[in-house]
Amino acid sequence: MPKKSIVSTVQAGAVLVSDGAWGTFLQKKGMLPGECPELWNLDHPSDVMDIARSYLCAGADMIESNSFGGTSFKLKHYGLEGRVAEINEAAARIARQAAGPDQWVIASVGPTGQMLALGDVTEEEIASSFREQVMALDRGGADAVCIETMSALDEAVLAIQAARVHTTCEVICTFTFEKNIRGEYRTMMGVSPSDAAQALVDAGAHVIGTNCGNGMERMVEIVREMRAVVPGTPILVHANAGLPKNINGVDVFPDTPEEMARHVPALVAAGASIIGGCCGTTPAHIAAIRRAVDGLQK
Ligand SMILES: [Zn+2]
Repeated sequence: MPKKSIVSTVQAGAVLVSDGAWGTFLQKKGMLPGECPELWNLDHPSDVMDIARSYLCAGADMIESNSFGGTSFKLKHYGLEGRVAEINEAAARIARQAAGPDQWVIASVGPTGQMLALGDVTEEEIASSFREQVMALDRGGADAVCIETMSALDEAVLAIQAARVHTTCEVICTFTFEKNIRGEYRTMMGVSPSDAAQALVDAGAHVIGTNCGNGMERMVEIVREMRAVVPGTPILVHANAGLPKNINGVDVFPDTPEEMARHVPALVAAGASIIGGCCGTTPAHIAAIRRAVDGLQK
């Protein structure tokens, strides 16, 4: 029997668990500052596989691919812009192998780092960069494309359109918000959660949400704001392990697995149906979220 889609599983009432942080995990595996994380899909595939398996063993229903910086714009920093297809296809294939037939692969797509608003690049250049990446992720076996850490609506819409037109994957898109001094959530580009939610659904995203920038507690407020404008769309949250504390020049994420998991009932009540981690989270955090989610569904 073919696996159900993420959307239909959520719409049948399930709350799903996603994975945790990748960057810090790669560093623990020996990745040095200045190395290209995505090149590890080719040079250290067993380490990448090991990270994916760690999260699946912790109870994740879905796993991201190691392809966050996999656009030509990002890979160009390492002189690897000619290897986009190879790198992204490998990323998805490793995640697919780890997930097997029963868990989902949600293939990570991060921002290009280019701002359309500044006129440095054209829409067509951004669109073709996303197209090249998502087609490779699809070939590698991704079930969904997870466009994440977005802050500009125009860029996110181009990524969603690329995935909708050029792949058969489900399309997830999550934005990163900060709380300003007036207590409102806004992206770096000034977009609110409600404006993002509406625009992402209008652009064709199947799942929307928020990742990074905040711990669980603030994610509850962001989800509530998104849910109010898009009542029927599944919402995914990849929360940081709290707000970072700078200790001797290093960002430390303070929330323990139990502290994060404590907010799961409130997050689900606010409207989230897929919950995982971003910066500072580990397999232990995902295991605690799994237990909290299972506790809800009893
Ligand atoms: Zn993060």
